[in-house]
Amino acid sequence: MDMEKIITLCKSRGFVFPGSDIYDGLANTWDFGPLGVELKNNIKAAWWREFVTTNDNSVGLDGGILMNRNVWVASGHVAGFADPLMDCKACQTRTRADKLIEAHDANVNADGWTNEALEKYINDHHLTCPNCGKFAWTPIRQFNLMFATNRGVTTDTANQIFLRPETAQSEYINFANVQRSLRLKVPFGIGQIGKAFRNEITPGNFIFRTIEFEQMEHQLFCPADAAMGFYEQYKQKIWHFCTDVLGLNPEHLRFHDHEKLVFYAKAACDMEYLYPFGWGELNGTHHRGVHDLTNHQNLSKKNLMYQDPVTNAKYLPTVIESSQGVERLFLAIICDAYTEEKIADDDTRVVLKLNPNLAPYKVCVLPLQKKGLTATATKLYRDLQQHFATAYDDAGSIGKRYRRQDEIGTPFCVTVDYDTLNDQTVTIRDRDTMTQERVKIADLPAKVINILTAYNTKKNIL
Ligand code: ATP
Repeated sequence: MDMEKIITLCKSRGFVFPGSDIYDGLANTWDFGPLGVELKNNIKAAWWREFVTTNDNSVGLDGGILMNRNVWVASGHVAGFADPLMDCKACQTRTRADKLIEAHDANVNADGWTNEALEKYINDHHLTCPNCGKFAWTPIRQFNLMFATNRGVTTDTANQIFLRPETAQSEYINFANVQRSLRLKVPFGIGQIGKAFRNEITPGNFIFRTIEFEQMEHQLFCPADAAMGFYEQYKQKIWHFCTDVLGLNPEHLRFHDHEKLVFYAKAACDMEYLYPFGWGELNGTHHRGVHDLTNHQNLSKKNLMYQDPVTNAKYLPTVIESSQGVERLFLAIICDAYTEEKIADDDTRVVLKLNPNLAPYKVCVLPLQKKGLTATATKLYRDLQQHFATAYDDAGSIGKRYRRQDEIGTPFCVTVDYDTLNDQTVTIRDRDTMTQERVKIADLPAKVINILTAYNTKKNIL
């Protein structure tokens, strides 16, 4: 897997463009193009189905990006949501100490280490500057990652608000609203998909680390004694989602337990994907104890206690969190799907072997010639659009058009030719096998839907 080829394909085929491109960009920002937005929507729909709609006792939420400043005081983000940074005195390059250590040893997870522990490891292992190779670090300083802005016209602290750095706090502060309005019984979960913002300074590795991104987070509220069981269940759930539902190769995935837990956590692990630049975090599954609800109850002075309807016991439920970034999943899916196939000595085809349910377009309609076929092909295109995302391409040779669809992962091409005018049949070509079959136009929507559904059913999505 070559990262440069992936980036080139994403840019040239309309998946991902550099942010603010015509103004020379803005570091670590990207815009999702016409195909990118379709793929992203399909990923989010698959997650929503897996973690909300078909997940027992789970409901959705769409919280605001802007929240009362106290949300971030209670959550600990104002005081402590910081990255450990140090500068190289020789070349002035700024580096994240924990990531330097993890790049040195992929089996170490330095997330949450103290400055002292980080500095000791860096000194003991003589980790030098990745830019100039010198060993001349400044002491580590903590740099808060939240973007701050002001509500209203004055700029004092009372008016300071933040762009949320994670979506999860909405689920915590709405725990009682959701539970009481829907009369839900613990255990139940709240899922949410939304934008988050972090003032990241380290290089992004394309869309892996950006300053604006989307998270898909699910918080399960459960009794303390059931929490470890749910923690294991949610680890299995994210594994099932990535492999069976999305189709990622299990050999490119691994779990990585946190060696040092934050004081309130009982267990935490990352699920990592083997990107072209190495293993990187895709998902976090966390046993957060009663930390979040306790802090919000204390600072807001509102009663967030749950009363068990059978025993009448009142308690704050324990939280099991499953959190993933949409863009990191997007990148993993493209990397896994990218395939180069040698067709002949001087002919290699590039195919995105996407799960058909994730593909931006399910079908592309291609008239063999424009002359005499456009009306029939356009009608077919409009009919198929009623059933699923459909593309239309009448520019260039049929071979080149097939290749263009292969590169963007379209599972089926449907070719309209002169026989179509007489017998109402078309040729359907399979992206992966390149085999072609003659089918009746009237049977086409059902045939494609059957294939998509069969894929879904096999993978246990629907
Ligand atoms: P990292 O160690 O890579 O900075 P993190 O541990 O800070 O990640 P979490 O706070 O657990 O990440 O966020 C949950 C998920 O959100 C991550 O697993 C990742 O998929 C996604 N995510 C976090 N930060 C970013 C970012 N800057 N850009 C894109 N996705 C992100």
